Amino acid sequence: MSKVWLITGANSGFGRAFTEAAVGAGDVVVAAARRINTLDDLVAAHPDQVEAVTLDVTDLPAIDAVVADVVKRHGRIDVLINNAGRTHVGSVEENGDAELRSLFDLHFFGPAALTRAVLPHMRARRSGAIVQLSSVGGQMSMAGFGAYSATKFALEGLSEALRAEVKPLGIDVLIVEPGAFRTSLFGNHSLSAGSIEDYEETVGATRAYVETGGGTQAGDPAKAAAAVLAALDTDETPLRL
Ligand code: NDP
Repeated sequence: MSKVWLITGANSGFGRAFTEAAVGAGDVVVAAARRINTLDDLVAAHPDQVEAVTLDVTDLPAIDAVVADVVKRHGRIDVLINNAGRTHVGSVEENGDAELRSLFDLHFFGPAALTRAVLPHMRARRSGAIVQLSSVGGQMSMAGFGAYSATKFALEGLSEALRAEVKPLGIDVLIVEPGAFRTSLFGNHSLSAGSIEDYEETVGATRAYVETGGGTQAGDPAKAAAAVLAALDTDETPLRL
């Protein structure tokens, strides 16, 4: 039976690659994005398999409404991919409270709310998978990546516990930790002003890395999406990929 996927940030980068891979597998994707017109081409190409819904993952009441609507119309959600995100470079001293909270809203509170919203439905069917887009920055940090990494560390902490809680219920949790991949992420970032000269030697190196698009070895998101689909299809889905 084909699966029903809910993918956030589905219009770009990894989100689009996951959507295309799931469609290729014959599945149905509810592709969530802030600007659904950017999904028009995918919907037009696969009208029976791709459905675009508006969702800003920092809008917590909207999350419950979208999940309820998907379950009402499709009867289930087999796979949730918490993918939406953005990068950010700035020293710890430069990163104000508002910036930290905004990154946590996007990378932690949004995914946590989506996870809570889908779990009752997955628990009732005793099946499902939740995929969390973390980063290598969810395992290690470096100068200039403190705020970004903090949010991904938090997501990983939550997700490890979640995996232990829901595995006995037949639900998989997969944490994906990409290195540098060719998406819009590196052009779609917020860079700090970089006005504090004392930090240029350290934070400046990270900023330069981001500005050059993550280096010349950046990978193909389609290959990462294929690896995620394969991992979800194994009998023993790994905790991390
Ligand atoms: P992209 O910039 O290509 O895609 C990011 C997506 O997230 C876009 O669709 C964007 O929408 C969406 N988004 C941003 N903010 C919100 C929001 N508030 N609500 C809903 N959607 C939102 O980057 P990637 O595909 O690379 O990023 C996807 C994930 O992969 C992120 O979580 C990122 O941290 C992670 N990652 C990426 C790496 C890389 O090298 N590319 C490395 C490690 C991790 P919009 O188009 O409207 O801005």
